[in-house]
Amino acid sequence: SLTTGIVGLPNVGKSTLFNAITQAGAEMANYPFCTIEPNVGIVSVPDVRLNKLNEMYHPKKTIPTTFEFTDIAGLVKGASKGEGLGNQFLANIRQVDAISHVVRCFEDKNITHVSGKIDPIDDIETINLELVLSDMEQVNKRIDRVGKLAKQKDKASIVEFSALQKLKEAFEEGKPARHVALTEDEEAAIKPFNFLTNKPVLYVANTSEDDVAAPDDNPYVQAVKEFAEKDGSEVVVISARIESEIAELDGEEKEVFLEELGLDASGLDRLIAKSYDLLGLATYFTAGEKEVRAWTFSKGTKAPQAAGIIHSDFERGFIRAEIVSYEDLILAGSEAAAKEMGRLRLEGKDYVMQDGDIVNFRFNV
Ligand code: GDP
Repeated sequence: SLTTGIVGLPNVGKSTLFNAITQAGAEMANYPFCTIEPNVGIVSVPDVRLNKLNEMYHPKKTIPTTFEFTDIAGLVKGASKGEGLGNQFLANIRQVDAISHVVRCFEDKNITHVSGKIDPIDDIETINLELVLSDMEQVNKRIDRVGKLAKQKDKASIVEFSALQKLKEAFEEGKPARHVALTEDEEAAIKPFNFLTNKPVLYVANTSEDDVAAPDDNPYVQAVKEFAEKDGSEVVVISARIESEIAELDGEEKEVFLEELGLDASGLDRLIAKSYDLLGLATYFTAGEKEVRAWTFSKGTKAPQAAGIIHSDFERGFIRAEIVSYEDLILAGSEAAAKEMGRLRLEGKDYVMQDGDIVNFRFNV
């Protein structure tokens, strides 16, 4: 499954946030925790549609879909030169699919800042530079050899060389790979490199508990938002400290607490939703009296592969999918009514799954 890596300088609130994530995840039933690595936190994806389906089917069990965060602590200035086990942490980032970049926007005299002052843009640029330098090293390791092969008219090498040249130029200006315009072939040629700066980024502005209700009054948050806009990235404002408090509350207590703070969703829930979006993920549901369950798929996935997310047998023996959209089901009031209204569709192996599809897969065993 896809995962988002939490990165940031020391003392910005990463561990506090990650603890909130694991705490929230620990309340989830039905998860084989023993197989999870210590730096991986799994949370359930909040989805109001699941509540509605619950009211309709009264199932014995309701199972939300999950989302994974990976804690990548220890990035410091100089990491790309191996400073503070830097290379190891950078290698960990290579394995994730998106980056949640935590930035300190809270003042607290008792908590030292690595560079001695609160300056979120400087922090962002420090980390981003390490990522660029690390990518640059990857390019430098490879570019001469590919250049030689390209001269010998090797077709694949010509494409790769052209891509690496464009990237090198961008890296020399401190620009991330995701800002470089590449052809489809070039994109494909550089995919195996897993360039750090080619991954989508979400900036997580960690504010003080007093600022979460009106974050725009915080000039640090404003600065991060402006930076992100230029970067083509998104921002989520949270208070890691509050998230760790929220994570200890159950459903109803949590709602009361959020209301007191003037929030309609916890920062963690907003972070999950935006990360899900950033990774191009969507949800389909299976629903019956026994169980209502949400499943995550990547946008563009076809029905047999979506079935394979439940079980490989479902994909192998796929016959068809019976589908009703969430909207149609809610309008009709029940599956039977939706069927009567002609809203239950039979879809074949080329059907592209849509967010909110309620599915019954038919398959041969
Ligand atoms: P990390 O090094 O990035 O993992 O940072 P930590 O999560 O360990 O946080 C560093 C310090 O900042 C800890 O003492 C936290 O309690 C504190 N901290 C984290 N988030 C907040 C916050 O939202 N407000 C305040 N005042 N302190 C925070």
